[in-house]
Amino acid sequence: MANSGSNLCPANSGHSRPELESCLLRISNDCTQCQLCVKECSFLQTYGDPKTIATEYAPNFEKFQQLPFQCSLCELCTAVCPHDLNPAQLFLEMRREAFGRGKADFPQHRVLRNYEKIGTSKLFTWYALPDGCNTVFFPGCALTGSRPETTLELYRYLQKHLPALGIVLDCCSKPSHDLGNHVRFNNVFNELKNYLSANGVKTVLVACPNCQKVFNEYGTGLTVESVYQRLDGLPLPKTDNIAEKVHLHDPCVSRFYGTTQDAVRSLLKKKGLQLSESSHSRKTTLCCGAGGGVSCLASERSRNWTTKNIDNADAQRIVSYCASCTHVFAAHSSTGHLLDVVFQPQKILNGESTEAKAPLTYFNRLQVKNKLRRSTTSGTRTRERQIGDRSGTGFPVKRVAVVMFLILIMLAVGKIALI
Ligand code: SF4
Ligand code: SF4
Repeated sequence: MANSGSNLCPANSGHSRPELESCLLRISNDCTQCQLCVKECSFLQTYGDPKTIATEYAPNFEKFQQLPFQCSLCELCTAVCPHDLNPAQLFLEMRREAFGRGKADFPQHRVLRNYEKIGTSKLFTWYALPDGCNTVFFPGCALTGSRPETTLELYRYLQKHLPALGIVLDCCSKPSHDLGNHVRFNNVFNELKNYLSANGVKTVLVACPNCQKVFNEYGTGLTVESVYQRLDGLPLPKTDNIAEKVHLHDPCVSRFYGTTQDAVRSLLKKKGLQLSESSHSRKTTLCCGAGGGVSCLASERSRNWTTKNIDNADAQRIVSYCASCTHVFAAHSSTGHLLDVVFQPQKILNGESTEAKAPLTYFNRLQVKNKLRRSTTSGTRTRERQIGDRSGTGFPVKRVAVVMFLILIMLAVGKIALI
């Protein structure tokens, strides 16, 4: 869309993406500066309402190369806007513009980029599609690493009800998406999506709300369903119930997924829990602090979101259905994952930690893969992905895995020596 006919964005010349131009024009023209979104967000309180940012935007100014990476892409602004504007999309487009100009290669993002490269590598990926498979379980990197037993238990449980259910251990590439590298995101995600479609997969069951959003927005031709919805329609595993009041947190990426939100509430109630929710739940839920990789460049802003959530929980145990949110909150408050409640409530009742932390998470992912590989039945199509190795990343995944393994052995020996 050309900018002719409107002089509202005089500083906008010089950017190359029509999608960005479209967002800038819409917000410049339609934002009434009502400040409803600003009231909710410290990023906007610092830089001004969306109209101010859109009209001042100039891609060559240094300010605008860092600025969009301080927005969590959480879409709370989108949820509260009375004019259906989407400032989060504007900031994502600004990220893509900065990345395309080579101005967004921040060293602080290396940890996120490497996380994805490891997740999409030959060493860490595993696809197992049994004969007749048209549905796969996609647990996501964070759940598999932090809760390997629960991941396998959930898969086995779903398999009882869907015998031809396949499994895919892979990364949905949301880090590349959120960091503005849409070329890598499109290449890597489309390769995954095309492989599934070409092999007869019609439905993807996702456990991670981030994967759910990615598959939902970009997985054309695939039906996406959260495992919580599926579990809610099945008889639950027989375990102890936790009869206590907990604070439920909806991940920000799930804010527009009402069906998933309903299923989560139903599951928790079936397990005997009483739920408390703040006014910031469902559509107006708050980012945990990890959204959009903001903690890499603006740790204060990220902590601000985390603190708001902890305050809203009012000292009650927090339950979330995103392994990343759960990890963030667990550093500050007693926190459990919904799947802990469904499969391992005893751990929560005993106050035991239910999640593993890095670097153990990487080891866990390899272990899950090995267990799945060993239990593969004949007639199952399997693969390890090669795209990460061919994408020119040059990231030494195997060397990192060997080093991690040696560290783990040293830790284990140290523990034994101490005993
Ligand atoms: S997406 Fe979230 S962090 Fe970004 S401007 Fe909107 S409310 Fe603020
Ligand atoms: S809520 Fe909508 S109209 Fe109001 S300031 Fe934010 S973007 Fe503009």
